[in-house]
Amino acid sequence: MSVQLYDTLSRSIQPLSTENGKPLRFYCCGPTVYGPAHIGNFRTFLIQDTLRRVLEVDGTEVKHVRNITDLDDKTIRQSMAEGLSLGEFTAKWTDKFHADCKALNMLSPCIEPSAVAHIPQQIALVEKLIEKGHAYATEDGSVYFRVNSFEDYGRLSKLKQRELKTQNENSAGEVNDADEYDRESVTDFALWKSRKPEDGANYWPSPWGEGRPGWHLECSAMVDSAFDGETIDLHGGGIDLCFPHHENEIAQSECAHGHDFCKHWFHSAHLMVEGAKMSKSLGNLYTLDDLRAKGFDPMIVRYTLISGSYRQQLNFTFDGLHASQSALSKLERFAESLLAKTGEATEQFNDTYVTTEAPKDYGRLEKAWDALRTNLNTAACLGAIFGVIGSNPAASLDAEAARSLLHAFGSLLYALGLKLFTAEPKQSDAPKAVIALAQARWDAKQAKDWAKADELRDAVLAQGWIIKDSKEGFELSQSPK
Ligand code: AMP
Ligand code: ZN
Repeated sequence: MSVQLYDTLSRSIQPLSTENGKPLRFYCCGPTVYGPAHIGNFRTFLIQDTLRRVLEVDGTEVKHVRNITDLDDKTIRQSMAEGLSLGEFTAKWTDKFHADCKALNMLSPCIEPSAVAHIPQQIALVEKLIEKGHAYATEDGSVYFRVNSFEDYGRLSKLKQRELKTQNENSAGEVNDADEYDRESVTDFALWKSRKPEDGANYWPSPWGEGRPGWHLECSAMVDSAFDGETIDLHGGGIDLCFPHHENEIAQSECAHGHDFCKHWFHSAHLMVEGAKMSKSLGNLYTLDDLRAKGFDPMIVRYTLISGSYRQQLNFTFDGLHASQSALSKLERFAESLLAKTGEATEQFNDTYVTTEAPKDYGRLEKAWDALRTNLNTAACLGAIFGVIGSNPAASLDAEAARSLLHAFGSLLYALGLKLFTAEPKQSDAPKAVIALAQARWDAKQAKDWAKADELRDAVLAQGWIIKDSKEGFELSQSPK
């Protein structure tokens, strides 16, 4: 059985297939580089990374392409506000994105095209659409896609015509040039936007005059370049992109090429924070750096963001982060219990076992692997792993059996993108044993085992350390002599 995944277009779980042994053609809408990506963005990117890893462990080669959106209202506005050229500004935030991805143990995409580097391809696509009667230029030098010319419009999002008018909004809910008076229909969307004073130096020559491409066009052009104009196998993005962005990508590409744009659509549900939608004004918009500054290792963040099934919204909380921290410790104890049987050192674990090389069989961990292969159910996978850990298998295994289980466990960790034994020490000046006691006390407190928590606090104090709790966790300081 190959890897299965829910497809937004057919509204059903379908196998992910490739053509004639070619690598699976997987395109993801990438970050808009006008600031650091937030943990919601990373939820989506991590889920995509996890799927790619599952496919690789399953033996499918993946050609993963994720773009950089470096040309839109936000990148232009912000670069001008900072007095930087668009290129300087977006390079800075692209570098930051890469650094965060690396810290989160994300694989680099095979190709990472940018919108600015694809202006000629975008212009060529517009020309083709005009030639075929699917687009028209207006007097001010803009070009619009003629939605009525594409019968299948709305197929992905299943939106009816009367609902389509909201497509003037971008994913941030801002209205896109709603004041154009010479559009044929309110549902038509911009392929090319004529130059405006607020664009500053960010405009390009075109057959319709100076201007810049509309946002949706970039992905159609970059998919063409990266995959030689062929139908792609899989397209990913957050659920907010389904309409209008992906609907418009389909319209542009299918009208230009006359064949299917993409076989399988992969949308992930949003991350909420403490039950609310993330927003700057609510002060609940976190970046990886924000969480690192509070002492959370990126692996804890990765674990948290992939711990829920991708089709359901995930509620991010600090309690959840602490639970992930404990869960990772349990995974480490499990690996250690098996390594004790094989006689290997913990330092060897990641290199030896956390690899793409699938085990002959997953043995006791079969259910965990099935959960990943059947619609990327990361929550069920982790649940199944902890079920096995709870049965304490190491107690009854010999070295060879422990090695097989380590192999299966390592493949699952590779697929989940989790590395063990890598955390930066949180309380650098406290001895390891004291940190372990304090962590056990925190866990007891979370489990509302007050008697045990008090006992452990006393044990920490007896070693000369004081625990101070905050909403986000605990801190250790040396008790005054
Ligand atoms: P952007 O940088 O705004 O272009 O978004 C990059 C990716 O993050 C897109 O796939 C979005 O759909 C996704 N995204 C944005 N907000 C969230 C969120 N709160 N939870 C999950 N994914 C999100
Ligand atoms: Zn896109």
